Amino acid sequence: MLLRHTPKELVERSALTINPAKTCQPVGAMYAALGIHKCLPHSHGSQGCCAYHRSALTRHYTEPVMASTSSFTEGASVFGGQSNLLESINNIFALYNPDIIAVNTTCLSEVIGDDLTQIINRAVADNKIPPGKTVMYASTPSFKGSHVTGYANMLAAMVQNFALNTGKKNDAVTILPSFIEPSDMTEIKHIAEELGFQYIMYPDTSGVVNAPMDGKFHMYPKGGTPKEKIAASGDSRLAFALGRIGTFQAAQLLDSKCKVKTQVIDLPIGISATDVFVDTLRKTVGLTVPESLRSERGQLVDVLCDKAQYLYGKKVSLMGDPDTVFGLVQFCADAGMKVLHVLTGTPAGAKWERRIGEAAGSGTVVKSGAQADLFYLHQLLQNEKPDLLFGNTYCKYIARDMDIPLIRCAFPIYDRIGHSYVPITGYRGGLHLLIKILDKIMDRQDRDAPEEQFELVM
Ligand code: SF4
Repeated sequence: MLLRHTPKELVERSALTINPAKTCQPVGAMYAALGIHKCLPHSHGSQGCCAYHRSALTRHYTEPVMASTSSFTEGASVFGGQSNLLESINNIFALYNPDIIAVNTTCLSEVIGDDLTQIINRAVADNKIPPGKTVMYASTPSFKGSHVTGYANMLAAMVQNFALNTGKKNDAVTILPSFIEPSDMTEIKHIAEELGFQYIMYPDTSGVVNAPMDGKFHMYPKGGTPKEKIAASGDSRLAFALGRIGTFQAAQLLDSKCKVKTQVIDLPIGISATDVFVDTLRKTVGLTVPESLRSERGQLVDVLCDKAQYLYGKKVSLMGDPDTVFGLVQFCADAGMKVLHVLTGTPAGAKWERRIGEAAGSGTVVKSGAQADLFYLHQLLQNEKPDLLFGNTYCKYIARDMDIPLIRCAFPIYDRIGHSYVPITGYRGGLHLLIKILDKIMDRQDRDAPEEQFELVM
């Protein structure tokens, strides 16, 4: 009943967003900052902003996410947030002792025009930053972009603040992942380890937002990339950025600032994209693909072949983060599914839309940006109903209204678990994803089958 007022007739909008298919920039910036060891994210704005950013991450990961705030009130909103931030820096180092404070701005501090470079310089001049500690910042105005933009900005800030070209190359290959789950970061490290090369990956939220329960409170869990490793990435012999929208800026900066040859490729979601990732590594780093990875690939191919009849021709619609959605579209197209609609609330640009169109095939509706919202998605689905919908938790209203099975594969997911532990990247992740898709399709077939066609063996 909730969405019964969504009309079927599509009207082009240029200013209005209804039920955005994204969250705000600082959420992504905080998530990226959690991927550095002993780093405390700090939201430079009102308490309400920080409460929202933390709650979005805490609900998605079902883990307590630590972050601090400049706690703007009316005074800071009028006169600027400098004194609030200087006081915060004092308190944070005294009370919580992080190695790094990663400040993200908010709508309010951006609108009033706080100059974070100047404030941090002032903190240095006033000896508010203890020796060996760092305060860094990323500009994350949330009246534009999305959580993926915020993630990309914080990742670039990591390169800007830490990556160092000493002039002496090391043997490591740097990996910069886009906004993905900690389970996917683990899977990418697994592939790197199986291939047997030295790597530096950041951010790395595995072991931070999916850390095991040991009965003790850890302000800073064991995971996260140490800042020394991020510094060493400036001397790495090569770098791979995985996912164009979330990493392009950082990749360019690593290349220009530290002269590290950086290649931007797609996230390894599905067979073709994982093949490209493994093959690019094999060729550029000079490696042989081990039997273990061949076997993982073979298992995925086996299941795809065994159950192709359930996938072929199935109609799918997808919303989510641009880099992940690109991988999912390729995965679905490779499996013979028909991609009807692809949306992301992140302004991913014309190139992304064109690439999605090429991967999905002709006739697919592709849209990105503020007007690619859930209202528009609902309208599209009313005009052509898919067999499956990929999206975040907010899509459950549409899925329920239209009786479409929903695969939760986007941020945020507040009503299911598993995403932070079970990957969708790599060959093993592809198998998990495939099983998830098949379960939905086969459950629906069982539910709708007439008595005489209800099969025991499928
Ligand atoms: S959209 Fe802006 S005002 Fe709202 S929570 Fe995010 S940063 Fe704060």
